[in-house]
Amino acid sequence: MNDVWFYLWIFVFAPLIISVIAFLAVLIRSPFKFPYRKITFDVSGAKKPKIEDYIDRMLIDNGMNEIDSSMLNMLDWKKESVEKVKKSAYKKRRREQFEMSLDWDHAFVFIFTRNRTRYKQVNYVKYPYTVVEEIGEFSCSYEYLKDRFDQLEEIDFEAVLSEYHSKKQRSLMTKELREQIAFRDNFTCQICGKYMPDGVGLHIDHIIPVSKGGKSVPSNLRVLCSKCNGRKSDH
Ligand SMILES: [Zn+2]
Repeated sequence: MNDVWFYLWIFVFAPLIISVIAFLAVLIRSPFKFPYRKITFDVSGAKKPKIEDYIDRMLIDNGMNEIDSSMLNMLDWKKESVEKVKKSAYKKRRREQFEMSLDWDHAFVFIFTRNRTRYKQVNYVKYPYTVVEEIGEFSCSYEYLKDRFDQLEEIDFEAVLSEYHSKKQRSLMTKELREQIAFRDNFTCQICGKYMPDGVGLHIDHIIPVSKGGKSVPSNLRVLCSKCNGRKSDH
């Protein structure tokens, strides 16, 4: 009699219990993993990196192509997942799991990294090596990025939005921007045509003055000579 129970346990009950556990495990675990798009920005050297500025610069340099194609991949994933739910034997549970995995508001994840130099000591000699440190993260929806892109397009991609809307337009007149305008206008006064190759008397003028809402962007800047610049201020 004892032998019969022994064999029943080994060949019937135990396998049955294991199968039930395995079945429940499959059922409990979600097969849906939201395909987040991760983008890394190396902010080494930046003092107070602003994530929005990095995103704007990415959109200015690369446009929406990469973002759009990532979004299409996510929509493909959604379509495939809906099919998976339809074909599943546990539709109700799978549908719940699918809906719980959706995270469109955080679909795009931006990660800030910084290179840090570390040292290891071998036989009294210090060897430097670089580690990449994650220092921050920001996530947003496709709509957020598209909205920023549209705003940038409206201002002809001339500046990142925080600078464009900054109240301190004068402080945005960097040496680099001045040089850029001087070269663009070939060191020539845009009113009288005076050529100032040595830069003496060369002014960078805001066409619409900052006091009237003019921006420090190339389209609102030009080269003037002292005379023309003086006349302009006389108005
Ligand atoms: Zn002039």
